[in-house]
This record gives sequence, C-alpha cells and structure tokens, in this order.
Amino acid sequence: MKSAAKSELFRRLPSVDELLRTAAVAELAASSGSATVTDAARAVVGRLREEIASGLLDEQSLDVALAGVPGAIEQQLRRMLGYSLCAVINATGVILHTNLGRAPLGAAAIERVRETSAVYSNLEFELETGERGKRDVHVERLFRRLLSDEGAVARAAGLRPFDTLRAGSGGTAEAAVSTRADVSTIVVNNNAAAVLLALNTLAEGGEVIVSRGELVEIGGSFRIPDVMAKSGAILREVGTTNRTRVADYERAINERTRLLLRVHRSNFEITGFTEQASIAELVELARRRGLPLMEDLGSGALVDLQSFGISGEPSVLDSLRSGVDVVTYSGDKLLGGPQAGLISGRRELVSRMRANSLFRALRVDKLTYAALEATLLAYVKHNHDAIPTLRMMRLTKEEIGRRAQAMTGQVKSSKLKVEVIDGDSVIGGGAAPSSVLPTRLLALSCEDLGADELAARLRASDPPIITRVEEGRVLLDLRTVFPEQDGMIAAALHRIAA
Ligand SMILES: *Cc1c(COP(=O)(O)O)cnc(C)c1O
Repeated sequence: MKSAAKSELFRRLPSVDELLRTAAVAELAASSGSATVTDAARAVVGRLREEIASGLLDEQSLDVALAGVPGAIEQQLRRMLGYSLCAVINATGVILHTNLGRAPLGAAAIERVRETSAVYSNLEFELETGERGKRDVHVERLFRRLLSDEGAVARAAGLRPFDTLRAGSGGTAEAAVSTRADVSTIVVNNNAAAVLLALNTLAEGGEVIVSRGELVEIGGSFRIPDVMAKSGAILREVGTTNRTRVADYERAINERTRLLLRVHRSNFEITGFTEQASIAELVELARRRGLPLMEDLGSGALVDLQSFGISGEPSVLDSLRSGVDVVTYSGDKLLGGPQAGLISGRRELVSRMRANSLFRALRVDKLTYAALEATLLAYVKHNHDAIPTLRMMRLTKEEIGRRAQAMTGQVKSSKLKVEVIDGDSVIGGGAAPSSVLPTRLLALSCEDLGADELAARLRASDPPIITRVEEGRVLLDLRTVFPEQDGMIAAALHRIAA
C-alpha cells in the first residue's frame, strides 16, 4: 500500500526532457549550455527521487518541491559552474600559510602573467637568431645578478655588506668567491622536485651523507629519506638526533660517497645538548675529499632577514658565499614568488642537472617564468615593498595596531566584544621556526556564539575570512590582511553581530 503510494509519487516526477522544454529551464540552457543544464536537472530530479524513496516527501510536499524545481536547477548550476579555488582573507598572521597558497604574488608579477600568457611569447625562442631558445634564460640573468652582486642586495635592505656577515668563515671566503662568480640557477616545479633532481643527478647509485638531526619532514609529506629513495641515492645517516660532528661525516666517507647534504631545519629547532657541524667545517671537508656539498635551504631568502627581525634564516647568498656547491629552495616561501623550486650552484653541477631527463619532467610553464621574472626584478630594483610577503614582514606592530584600533571603531555591537591585544605573527612555510614578529591582534568574543562558531561564520563570509581560535576567543592578525580588505572584515563582523 505504502509502496504503491510511492510509485504514484515517482510517476509525478518530470523527465529531464520535459524539464528542458519548460520556458524557465530552456532559458538556463540557452545561457549556460544544455549539457550542464541537463546534468543539473538530472541531479535535482535524482534528489527528489531519493527523497521519495526515503519517505521524506508526501503528496503535498512533492507539489511544493516540484514548483521549486527550476529554482533548484539554477542553484545546482551555480554550484557546478562556480569556482572552487577562490580568494580568502588570511587573518591568521601566518605569512607563508601553505594551506592558503603561501606567497601572494605582487602586482607586477600578475601583470606579467597577464601580458605574456594571453598571447604567444618568446618562451623558448631567440628573437635575434630566430632559432629555438631555452626557457631558463628569462630568469637566469637575474639570478646571476642577485647571487653575485652582493653589495646591491645588502644596501637595499639597509644592511651591512655581506662581506661582514658570516665573519669567521674566512677560511672558505676565497673559494666561495670563485664559486659565486660562476653560479648558475635552474627552475623546477617546487623545492621537493629541486631536491629530487639534484640528488638524482649528483648521487644516483651512490651514497649521500646526512646528519640524523636533519632527516626532516616538512608539511605536505616531504620527507628527506623518501625523496632520497626516489632519487636512487642511498641515505647514509651519521651522528645522533641532537649531536653530529664533522668527524662523523668524515668517518662515513667511502668510495661510494657522492655527496654531503645539509638540510635546513625549517620547521623545528633542537635545543639543549646539541651540536651541529658548521657550514665552514662541511665546506672544508667536502673540498678536502673532493665531494660536492649541497644545502637544502627550504625557504631560501634573497635578502638578509636580520633587518626584519628574523634570525637563523641564512640567505641563498650566505650559503653560496660560505662555499656550498648547490643550494635548493622554494619560489613561494621567503622569496615571495610563484610556486617553484630553485637550484643555484656551481655551473658544471647545475649543467648536469639541466641535462638530466628528469629536468624535462619537472620543468615549469610560462606563467611561472613570467611571475618569477617580475618578482626577481623587484629584488634587482631593490623594490622590496613590491613583494607582498616582504612588505608584510616589515609592517610594525604600531601600524598593525592602528588598523586594528580603527576596526574596533567600525564594529559597534553590544553582542560582540572586540579588544586589541599584543601577540605574535609567524613566518610559516617552514621558515625561521623560532622567530616571531610582534603584532597587535583583534580578539573577538560574542555573547551568543562560541569562538568556533564565530570563526565558522567568518569562514562562511564572502570572501571567507580565516582566523585563529585561542583560549575561547577568535584572533585576527591584520599583518597578513591587505589594507584594502580591512573594510570587508569590518562589514562581515557587523553582519555577524547584528
Ligand atoms: C619547504 C621545504 C621543502 C619543500 O619545498 P616545496 O617548495 O614545498 O616543495 C623542502 N625542504 C625544506 C628544508 C623545506 O623547508
């Protein structure tokens, strides 16, 4: 009896063809294409069928549902044709937030992508000769400048010249100078790919010596031992988690050794009873035993970050200057550019990597070159404020505090309590794990909403606002919010608290 009633209801469901013939749906098909509208209609009718089957719809509620079918199809269509990847407001204070796309690109980078990718470009074409060219040339000249013109970068950041940085590594300075004069850089898809390509080229079938204290896992499942295995190189661990001396490396060297590897401890620190061989000691050992030394820097800053209040984060230039032969680093961490992996180092070693067929598989497209070239040019011109992540790092606590204070004035609500308190921003992206930047935070609590619910409402705003929840309060750090987004946050808070 009940199932008979159900079959009666099923019979009343329109077919997709019938729906497409109705005026409202036909109009949608004309504007959005009949194939997608057919899919949307099928999904809507399918949902009604399920609701009948599970007893959710009776005769009357089915009438209501059927009247709403064109509207439901339109909504379904919006979901299907809407973007999944969308802009969000990062109010977490984590500058390089891997889940939020790491470094936002500067205006010039976006402009170059637009100008060179909507039309044809000379990506691999030599305009002078009319012959086939190499895509690397577009950034190679800039890297060479940035990684050899030591004074320029230092001056721009208002710093001591690099000559005086790394004092104490004097023994290697001379060798390092000749390394730098002949430094070459290639670009691959990300730093994980850079490490893979470098290890495969320099050490396939042989051994690579790494300290146990550096066998790191970076967020997003990048583990040195796994990448090593995929590269075909054999990992030779030395030392202990907290202490590794240069003598440990030396003892492990044998006829199968191809490379010494130093991995930057990007996202953690080991403190207490610790010892790590210095770069100078490793350079000396590598030279003496005729082995290349590679450093996986991870973040790889192109400027000295001490003036930004960030310590313990050696720049790419520092590393090359100390005599490291090959450095690998990300394009979208401290460099502030597009996702990419950079390999900078001694020309003959980098040339071997370029000739490796893996390089072809890991190469990047024209969008990346366009954005990277513009980002590097900003460094060459000393225009650091054009790089959003560097600009955010340089914001002072006072500037951020003023913006936060202004926002409290805009959100007048008896339900929402807004305070401005001291706090810390972090670099993120596996850089400078222990250094934080002092900031001012907006701390929100709401009378009738818990902190998690308030954070969820902010995420549901358009654009979504991503925050931190700590000790029962929602915290917003305007360091990572673009000033033109302040108004959107104020408006969202106003709506939520109304
Ligand atoms: C971030 C990081 C990586 C991975 O870089 P991706 O660009 O994310 O592939 C590798 N090594 C270190 C030390 C890192 O910090």
